[in-house]
Amino acid sequence: MTEIFPQTATAADVIAAYEQVNLINNIRTPAASGIEILNPATGELLGTAAGSSADETDAAVAAAYAAQVEWAKVPARQRGKLVSAAARAVVEHGELVAQVLARETGKAIRTECRGEVSVAADILDFYGNLGSELKGQTVPFHPRSLTMTTCEPLGVVAAILPWNVPLVLGALKVGPALVAGNSVVLKASEEAPYATFLVAEIMMQFLPAGVLNVINGDGANCGHALTHHKDIAKITFTGSEAVGQKIYEVAARKIIPTSLELGGKSPMIICADADLDKTVSGAISGMRFTRQGQSCTAASRIYVHQDVFDTFMERIGEELDKLTIGDPLDEGTDVGTIISAKQRAVIDGFIAQAENTKGVEIKRFGTLPTSEALSADLFMQPTLLLGLPDDHSCVTQEIFGPVAVIQVWTDYDDVIAKANSTHYGLAASIWTKDLSTALDSTARLNAGYVQVNQNLTIQPNVSYGGFGRSGLGKEASLEAMLAHFTRSKTIVMNFD
Ligand code: NAD
Repeated sequence: MTEIFPQTATAADVIAAYEQVNLINNIRTPAASGIEILNPATGELLGTAAGSSADETDAAVAAAYAAQVEWAKVPARQRGKLVSAAARAVVEHGELVAQVLARETGKAIRTECRGEVSVAADILDFYGNLGSELKGQTVPFHPRSLTMTTCEPLGVVAAILPWNVPLVLGALKVGPALVAGNSVVLKASEEAPYATFLVAEIMMQFLPAGVLNVINGDGANCGHALTHHKDIAKITFTGSEAVGQKIYEVAARKIIPTSLELGGKSPMIICADADLDKTVSGAISGMRFTRQGQSCTAASRIYVHQDVFDTFMERIGEELDKLTIGDPLDEGTDVGTIISAKQRAVIDGFIAQAENTKGVEIKRFGTLPTSEALSADLFMQPTLLLGLPDDHSCVTQEIFGPVAVIQVWTDYDDVIAKANSTHYGLAASIWTKDLSTALDSTARLNAGYVQVNQNLTIQPNVSYGGFGRSGLGKEASLEAMLAHFTRSKTIVMNFD
């Protein structure tokens, strides 16, 4: 592999290299306009990323369109081997990628960013090994005909990312799309594009020009142009419900397949017989407090059985108080910052609604950093809201911050009904030692990803995707690649 950055390169060197460029045809291609990217922990300007226009977006689609036919002719296993080789190179550059990611997202390098790079590489490698699974079937239609199905690529895939876990979410799209023989135009999040660019450029060292192209820009210009482009055969989007609805309308007009991974308000039900040690650590990791709760699968509604409520509250408070909130680049930090002032205002708006509600108790944990080198505005304490009515906005809507709702329950049927009462359906978990409760509840919980006694995040080989307004389609598995990045062609041959 050609070294795109010398061994001694720093995060600042990487960010400088992506000053107002896109990656089109494996080349850093200047864009006419830029979007300023801030370090949320310090408020400093990191650099100016591309703010792609419609024409610049079209150039990326043209490159992908021109490359796709030849890429589809590369044997599927060979495509997979190239993606796996790229995954290994991402691991080799892991520390540099994590350093860039921590600076642009404000996520703590030790608890979040390094792990994200290795999970993203693992997902790419998982898909790299699935090239030989792009199989069709033979059909017993008639003894003198050969009838079969084949798995074809779709063409150019538009992949659109949010800012919260851009590398993992990007790998879930780019990996299966490329292995299945599609080319890709990846739109980075305009809030945090640099680590996405770096991983993509590392991958490009293994891929023919035009097979993977990465652009940055806002939704109104770049995202709009990308989704509306006539040569886009498929859109795969992760982001908010509101933007997902817009994209689905565009796709409907063009009648192209679309995968949507949207928001969530995932319930976690703690039964009286649950192992409380595991439950407390599962609630903290499930709520993604070390990511400031900025996760679509965050266990943000925690239903605790009355018999264990007091003990649970005491224990979770003790553990949350131990989290160190501070500089994302400090090895001692557990929790970094919120991504932006805009997102902070959304979270504060929800907390203000809770504060204005009678009988609500708001508990905050941990200590905010006081260092003058840090911009205090975007650091937040893990926060628990108690005593809210079931129809309160903090119970029914996604907050996307370090704020979990704690509700007490006594009746099992009632808590299942409450767990199912939002319009989301991304994830759910139940914590019990009783197998019959586990079996009954997993059948009744209205979510695409249901776990018992754990709250894991996305895992390669485990299908992931929401019900209801949490989205459409699956990711992270073989069936996701086959269902969402290929089309099935039926061929009937008759030589009679
Ligand atoms: P967002 O919807 O604001 O933006 C996501 C992406 O869409 C960005 O790249 C943005 O530029 C682009 N975009 C905006 N308008 C567009 C348009 N009209 N056409 C095309 N593209 C457009 O989301 P965000 O604030 O970046 O991320 C947070 C949201 O993402 C939360 O709601 C969260 O639940 C969701 N999310 C879901 C999952 C999941 O797997 N279900 C994972 C992570 C985040």
